[in-house]
Amino acid sequence: MASSSQARCVFLGAPGAGKGTQAKRVAQGSGLTHLSTGDLLREEVKSGSELGVEAKGYMDAGKLVPDQLIIDMVKARIGGGDSAIGESGLLAASGWILDGFPRTLPQAEALDVNLSGDNALTHVISFAVPEEVLMGRLTGRRTCLNCGAIWHVEHKPTSKEGVCDQCGGELTQRSDDCNEAIGKRLEVYRSQTTPLLAYYGDRGVLKEVDANRSPDVVFQELLTHMQ
Ligand code: AMP
Repeated sequence: MASSSQARCVFLGAPGAGKGTQAKRVAQGSGLTHLSTGDLLREEVKSGSELGVEAKGYMDAGKLVPDQLIIDMVKARIGGGDSAIGESGLLAASGWILDGFPRTLPQAEALDVNLSGDNALTHVISFAVPEEVLMGRLTGRRTCLNCGAIWHVEHKPTSKEGVCDQCGGELTQRSDDCNEAIGKRLEVYRSQTTPLLAYYGDRGVLKEVDANRSPDVVFQELLTHMQ
């Protein structure tokens, strides 16, 4: 198996399964590049770009942003220009973790177009958490507007309410972390993303991690999978 600095990973899991938290942590310790399509989209929304304006309606409703918009955004971010994903730029240059992409079969197929041979995915990690636990994780989640650190009002509170312990930034609740949007996001995960488990399972790169445990325990297990 590839050393972690050359790893090309996909983190799969329902909203609230801990993909983002763990991807940040693994990336910090390993030098892997962390690419979260949710974070990229939130930046687009914040900047008021055309893509951001279009994506916001889908995101707030808990729906997926259309495949072609996402695929084009990922391509642009990796410096691929008109080339297919993985052919040039960031993805080809170093190891990386994709967090929240792919989320549909067409996205997985687009990723595969240029990820064969030396560029093939080395790890696909599925984060398994029961749905009733996900609901509580999402409604209590708070994110730092400044550094992006993720907190939870009960499970990982900051010492001062609403203020990030890491950088002093202001905490916010994501607009799609409300009950209606969460219900829709879980349903979308079940119907559109879970088919990827069979897609990757069939080629033997899939590892399932029980992510209904403390973040430290999950992190240690991830490290063993990513040796
Ligand atoms: P996340 O931060 O990964 O939970 O993503 C937040 C929202 O961004 C999702 O509910 C979708 O609306 C959108 N999104 C993020 N990644 C994708 C993707 N790969 N395909 C479609 N929509 C996405």
